[in-house]
Amino acid sequence: KPRSLSGMQPTSDSLHLGNYIGALVEMVKLQETHDAFYFIADLHALTVAPEPEVLRERTRVTAAQFIAGGVDPARSVLFVQSHVHQHTELTWVLSTLTGFGEAGRMTQFKDKTAKGHSANVGLFTYPILMASDILIYDSDVVPVGEDQRQHLELSRDLAARFNQRFGDTLVVPEPHIMKETAKIQDLQEPTAKMSKSAATDAGLINLLEDPKRIAKKIRSAVTDTEREIRFDVENKPGVSNLLSIHSALSGVPVSALETAYEGKGYGDLKKDVADVVVAAITPFRERTLSLMADPAELDRILADGAARAAEVAEATVRRVYDRVGLLPRL
Ligand code: ATP
Ligand code: MG
Repeated sequence: KPRSLSGMQPTSDSLHLGNYIGALVEMVKLQETHDAFYFIADLHALTVAPEPEVLRERTRVTAAQFIAGGVDPARSVLFVQSHVHQHTELTWVLSTLTGFGEAGRMTQFKDKTAKGHSANVGLFTYPILMASDILIYDSDVVPVGEDQRQHLELSRDLAARFNQRFGDTLVVPEPHIMKETAKIQDLQEPTAKMSKSAATDAGLINLLEDPKRIAKKIRSAVTDTEREIRFDVENKPGVSNLLSIHSALSGVPVSALETAYEGKGYGDLKKDVADVVVAAITPFRERTLSLMADPAELDRILADGAARAAEVAEATVRRVYDRVGLLPRL
């Protein structure tokens, strides 16, 4: 079976609608056809300096949300990144193959430092740790949102470069990004992606939020001064975003929605989007809360996942260490 791999950072008290539509839904689908490795990227989260107690809580809630969204820990390997120390070992080797200028071209670093995060070296080398996360499991496909395309390209380049220099060792992964709907935008600032670290709360839909507040946020979403409901990201980013959200959750293609809303107003669209979102989120929220009620069981699931992940990761690190000329540990 081919392998699928993906992770999310525990950088907020809840995942948001973009994480759900852009990644989690696909991660769950891929379990059917792939050997899936899914993890909580707690080491990545350290790059934005969380409070220790908050990070612990968020790591558990992110794991609970994976399961609530349909990741099945019996079938897929679900684990916490820091529990598999091999990730950081491979990162070092990959960092010695990454050009300084190459790392400097990664736009997420610029985006996050522009948002006020300190420009620490960890934030700069973030994409190399991510390449390690992917390459260490010989991942074939990586379901992520559009915002991660550039990082994935770096992972592919590093795998190819390693293979060229040291012989065939690493699998070059394929991105798996859903088209039209791959990127969910901030409701208040529809030219920026919805983000856990968003500037304002009003544009962000948290999956654990109260349904009434969600409906209110959608009603207040920024649109434009026209009246036509049409998918046009350039000129109508707000309306296009609402159509994307509707389509992703209802399964109705965007073109069919455009036809269905001919002659109707933005208010009608917003009301329907709110209904579709609340219907999708309500059972998800209930499952998450019930999983959070038993943290010991959650920790047990994660420990089991880490043990299974480490077996694969250790084999890769040994192979890589050997190829680059490090003496074997006897
Ligand atoms: P942060 O702001 O802390 O970086 P984030 O919201 O970007 O948080 P991540 O944990 O970095 O979330 O990303 C988890 C997954 O969600 C990735 O696959 C990413 O591509 C996807 N994702 C994040 N934001 C969006 C979005 N707005 N639309 C679609 N997918 C998204
Ligand atoms: Mg992100």
